[in-house]
Amino acid sequence: MQKQLLRWFDRHARKLPWRSQAARRDPYRVWVSEIMLQQTQVATVIPYYRRWLRRFPNLRALAGAKPAAVLKAWEGLGYYSRARNLHAAAREVVQCHGGRLPATRDDLLGLPGIGRYTVGAILSLAFDQQEPLVDGNVARVLARLFGIRQNVKSGAGQARLWKLAGALVPAKRPGAFNESLMELGAIVCSPQNPRCDACPLNRFCVALRRGWTEQLPNTGKRPKSRAVRQRALLIWRDGRVLVRRRPAGGLLGGFWEFPGDELSAVRHDAGRRVAVVRHGVMNDRLTVEAFDCPWRGGEPSAKDKGIRWRWATPSDLKRLTFTGAHRKIIRSLSDSRSARSRTTNLESRITADT
Ligand code: SF4
Repeated sequence: MQKQLLRWFDRHARKLPWRSQAARRDPYRVWVSEIMLQQTQVATVIPYYRRWLRRFPNLRALAGAKPAAVLKAWEGLGYYSRARNLHAAAREVVQCHGGRLPATRDDLLGLPGIGRYTVGAILSLAFDQQEPLVDGNVARVLARLFGIRQNVKSGAGQARLWKLAGALVPAKRPGAFNESLMELGAIVCSPQNPRCDACPLNRFCVALRRGWTEQLPNTGKRPKSRAVRQRALLIWRDGRVLVRRRPAGGLLGGFWEFPGDELSAVRHDAGRRVAVVRHGVMNDRLTVEAFDCPWRGGEPSAKDKGIRWRWATPSDLKRLTFTGAHRKIIRSLSDSRSARSRTTNLESRITADT
């Protein structure tokens, strides 16, 4: 997996000013770019990064600058504590570490504004040490890749991600590997609509295989629920009803259901409404109306890859595994049938009594 990712990174990574050979060998430049990129878009950071390096080309220049000049160079980038911490840390490095950023985790963690992520970035990118890092992009990629359903922001979720990242980072090119995970999250494994077809790791990805890409990562937030209306057509032909199996891999892959309005090859009556069911699925509040539609001709098209069709008998309906909403339709129909037969029995008894 590491090989595929690095190969992809070598071919597809964006060319960015902090990714030049010279910048990658300079711990100061790695540090500045990583701090600037926190909570800020790449396109916004680029001109700031260039201006900053012209103004403070090395750590000593930054340490010797006046606070007002540092804030001025940061003006408009937001989260100003980042600039103040950079400045304070530069001064501390000059005073306590001879003007060179230290290359150990503990020394780095002792500097203002440097946390676990920045330590991983500096040690792996600038010092070629086999250290992991986890940011939002890496958390998303790992959660999807390994099908982690835990809240990635919880203590336990974070611990799991850091452990995984630590197990994955290779001894050779650790910095490039860390960057390739972040780059994959930024340009392929995006929060919405990840481009799984272009992903070098798609064959290892649990979320893709199980149809979870939209639900992961779990960030603990409950997204707003949507109200969705659907129609289910019960197309009857000689005592059998048309059903289909959803393609494997997608949402509810492998479950059976009744078709909706999209059937073009099968002719049927408009039908009358026989049931309305409500069902919650993921984030949707579904209302499904079922219609009895006698068949008039045609067969379902096998064009949609992965979909299986079948004219199901009543005992098939009991045996096959249906989606929750469509199972409710089957139950509602059999309940109303038995209610009808109870009523009929009662009526016939009443008639007999009178
Ligand atoms: S296959 Fe898709 S979901 Fe999985 S890691 Fe790649 S882009 Fe992300």
